[in-house]
This record gives sequence, C-alpha cells and structure tokens, in this order.
Amino acid sequence: MNFDSKVIYGGISDDPRTGAVSVPIYQTSTYRQPAPGEPKEYEYSRTGNPTRRALEELIVDLEEGERGFAFSSGMAAISTVLLLFQSGDHLILSDDVYGGTFRVVEKVFSQQGLQYSFVDTSEPENIQRAIRPETKAIFIETPTNPLLKITDIAAVAEISKAEELLLIVDNTFMTPYLQQPLTLGADIVVHSATKYLGGHSDLVAGLAVTSSEELGDRLHFLQNSVGAILSPQDSWLLQRGIKTLSLRMARHQENAEKLASWLKEHSEVDKVYYPGLKEHPGHRINKKQAAGGGGMISFTTTSPEAAQNLLKKVEMITLAESLGGVESLISLPAAMTHASIPAEKREKLGITDSLVRLSVGIEDYNDLQQDLDRGLTEVKN
Ligand SMILES: *Cc1c(COP(=O)(O)O)cnc(C)c1O
Repeated sequence: MNFDSKVIYGGISDDPRTGAVSVPIYQTSTYRQPAPGEPKEYEYSRTGNPTRRALEELIVDLEEGERGFAFSSGMAAISTVLLLFQSGDHLILSDDVYGGTFRVVEKVFSQQGLQYSFVDTSEPENIQRAIRPETKAIFIETPTNPLLKITDIAAVAEISKAEELLLIVDNTFMTPYLQQPLTLGADIVVHSATKYLGGHSDLVAGLAVTSSEELGDRLHFLQNSVGAILSPQDSWLLQRGIKTLSLRMARHQENAEKLASWLKEHSEVDKVYYPGLKEHPGHRINKKQAAGGGGMISFTTTSPEAAQNLLKKVEMITLAESLGGVESLISLPAAMTHASIPAEKREKLGITDSLVRLSVGIEDYNDLQQDLDRGLTEVKN
C-alpha cells in the first residue's frame, strides 16, 4: 500500500466486530479476565488500550518501524526514550534542538547523572569528535528548530552503527510523509504529534517508534513503568488527524515553497531559512533524504523592531507558539519557544531578536502573502 493510502488504512483502521469504519474509543481502564492471572489481549489501560494500540500500529506502518508507542506529549515521548540511559552515560545532541529537549536534558536528566554534548550535527565530523567511551546515543533533529539546519541522517547512522550507539531522530518537522529516518538507519524516531501529525492545534501528544522488537520491549517496559500514556480520546483524535496528513503536508509545503521564494525578495526581509531553497546550505542533503523542504520557514527582518511590528500587525496569521496546524502560526523564537535557552547561547546559535518563525498553514496562498506583506511594510512608519 502506498503512503497516501496507509494514512487511512494503516495499523488498525476500523472495528472488525461491528464494521465501524472508525476505531471505537475504548474508554476503559481495565478488562475482564476469564481466569485469575490469565488476561485476554489487554489487562490495564496504562499497559495497553485498543484505541491507543490502533494509533501505535498506524505510526509503525507510517515510519516503517517495528513497535510504536503513544505518549501524553512529545516531551513525555522524548523523556521516556531518554530513560533508556543510565547515570554516567553520555549523549550527543544537535545544538539547536527543540527548547524543551534542551531543557529536559540540561535541567532534569543531568540531575540523574546523564552526560551530554550539544554539537552542530549538520557537520557529522563534530559528532565523531564528541564521542567518548561512555557515549551511548546520538539525538538529532533535521531540520532543526528554528534555524532549519539539516543533518545527514544516513551519514550519522553510519557513525552510530560503527560506534554501536543508538541513533534517535526527532521527526516532528518532516513527518513520515516527507522523511522516514528508520529507513535511513535510525533506531528510534520520536514525534511531537501535537504538531503536523495531529495537524489541527487541538491536542497534545507524542509518539515513538523503534526499529527493532528488542528496543520496543525496552521502551514498552519504560512506558508502562513511568505511565505517560496517551488517553483513548486523544488517541482517536490523533488517528483522525493523521488520515489527512498527506493532503495537509502537500499543501503546507506548496504554500511554504512559494512564500519562501517571495520572502527572500522582500525589501524588509534579510535572510530566509528554508531547506527547499537552493541556496540553503542543507538543500542538497535534505533533497536526498526528504521529499521536500516542509512547511516551516524562518526569516530575519531588517531590525528587531520590524519583527515585533510584523507579529503585531498580521491579522489572519495567528501569533502563537507551536506549529504544524492547518492555521498559519507566527512566532518570535527568542522571546517565546526558545526563551529558556540563555540569551548568550541563543545569539551564538543565530536565534536573534529579528528571527521570525512561520508555520505555514493550508490557507489560500494569496491571503497569506497579503497578510505578511501588510505586516512587513506597515513597519516602516
Ligand atoms: C513541540 C516539539 C516537541 C515537544 O512536544 P510537545 O508535544 O509540546 O511536548 C519536541 N520536538 C519538537 C521538534 C517540537 O517541535
């Protein structure tokens, strides 16, 4: 089955008992057992729930993995994956990972003795150089947030295999519609399903998919032990969102490609970061590993004031954190999503006060362009 059909029919897509074409919401905590200690398929909903299972099998199909797990947020998925490691273990991570990932590593897991290095993974040599005897895993995002830097997944997978490390990829920005890290050699894929997979800014959820049964067993043990599972209601809502993933991603990307080309010619715009643009430093690698540049654009305005103004003047586009919804969202990472990163480090990474991040929605292209143009040109007065 091809991907565009799999989003609809992958995993468990209906109810074999009644023929319902939508998976029922099994709003139950427990399951009757025929005899003590001999449960049927399910025993307790933290351990497993049929609605959640349907979603988990779906993401396994879409990411071409072995086992899938649904969590109450992207951070719950990432944190549970990080529990695979012990005190003294060392991790190498992309230096402009999602702010929450940075925070949980630096402020929470470090307290448990986890060692870490943040490096620019767009140059795989930096990873090679950071490897220590205690290194256990590499955690990358590609494209990164918000500068959309590209890391060569296959090249990093080669390093991780040679050094017997786990490769974990946060695939939130691309989704399996555009990029399937497990097929490129990654061991675990994580998602904030709050974003494109859910797609409608109406839920918070996370997913993790493993490339092997063995890793799947370890992750299921941790998920069941720690318990940050997704509810049956939200599992259903997320599966429903995923049914239109292909349609939405195609439109997000079409709008983003056009907007990126238009923005880079705009007199009030300094620099546009979009992996779909030929001049983007990661363009060639992104083209090799992903079916396009995706729906996220970052750009710098001519001044911090211009950025502030733009965010206040847009009308249709919503000023908000988050991304990946049908509606376009605009934000100032330095003041919003990335505020938890120390100012000095932000500047070093290029997350300046003039940097605007745009999650391009699926609206009419001309309406989007007009809204941005007004916001950018009214700035002058
Ligand atoms: C939002 C996000 C997360 C965190 O997910 P939540 O669902 O908000 O907990 C992790 N990684 C990336 C790339 C994100 O954009």
